[in-house]
Amino acid sequence: RMRQEFTANVSHELKTPLTAISGYSELIQNGMANQEETIRFAGEIHKSAKRLLTLINDTIRLSQLDASESEQEVVYEAIDLYKIAEDCVNMLKVSAEKHEVDISIHGSNAYLEGNKEMLEEVVYNLCDNAIRYNNEGGKVEVTVKPVKGKIYLCVEDNGIGISKEHQERIFERFYRVDKSRSKSTGGTGLGLAIVKHIIQQHGAKIELTSEKGKGTKIEVEFSKSR
Ligand code: ADP
Repeated sequence: RMRQEFTANVSHELKTPLTAISGYSELIQNGMANQEETIRFAGEIHKSAKRLLTLINDTIRLSQLDASESEQEVVYEAIDLYKIAEDCVNMLKVSAEKHEVDISIHGSNAYLEGNKEMLEEVVYNLCDNAIRYNNEGGKVEVTVKPVKGKIYLCVEDNGIGISKEHQERIFERFYRVDKSRSKSTGGTGLGLAIVKHIIQQHGAKIELTSEKGKGTKIEVEFSKSR
């Protein structure tokens, strides 16, 4: 049933950008657009094509994760989560500046047995959300450190927050509190589903604390070894 639901959701999500591409290109083909409109329509086609690529990439990623769960082909090695978070924060500085959000990293070296690419995705998705669902002048604080024999990761923002009734559901595939805000910032509704999947595969625990209008804190606790 879940697979059926997912396929239906994916098809539905693909329809909107494809309808736009088809519509705009038909107008150009029929000579119904002047030069100025042609440029604008091409822009819309480009935007929709990029959206399709993002959706398809996230969908492929989820199905890869679903497959790797059973096949045990994932490589686990000693990784410094602090270093991963630091690189991620540096990578997201430009995007944060664009949103007028300050992003910073705190803590110390923290080694655990994990898959590098997957851990990068976790940190990236959490930080990206904390920036995108924030307000101008807001901040994002990322902390990684060893605590009591575990590795602690926290991404905290003082952005728009999530009201109680949505909190349980945001890790579901395609679930979005505000679809238009998600879409306009390049969201697919799959980021946290990917995060949850990876957290489970690493045997880690994730906890969400959020208040609408105040901000969101996501804490993850990893064991050092699997
Ligand atoms: P999306 O691609 O829409 O960002 P995600 O799976 O990453 O999808 O997140 C699901 C939804 O959870 C988002 O659409 C948003 O409504 C909400 N959300 C996620 N992170 C935050 C955050 N830091 N602050 C407020 N809302 C958030």
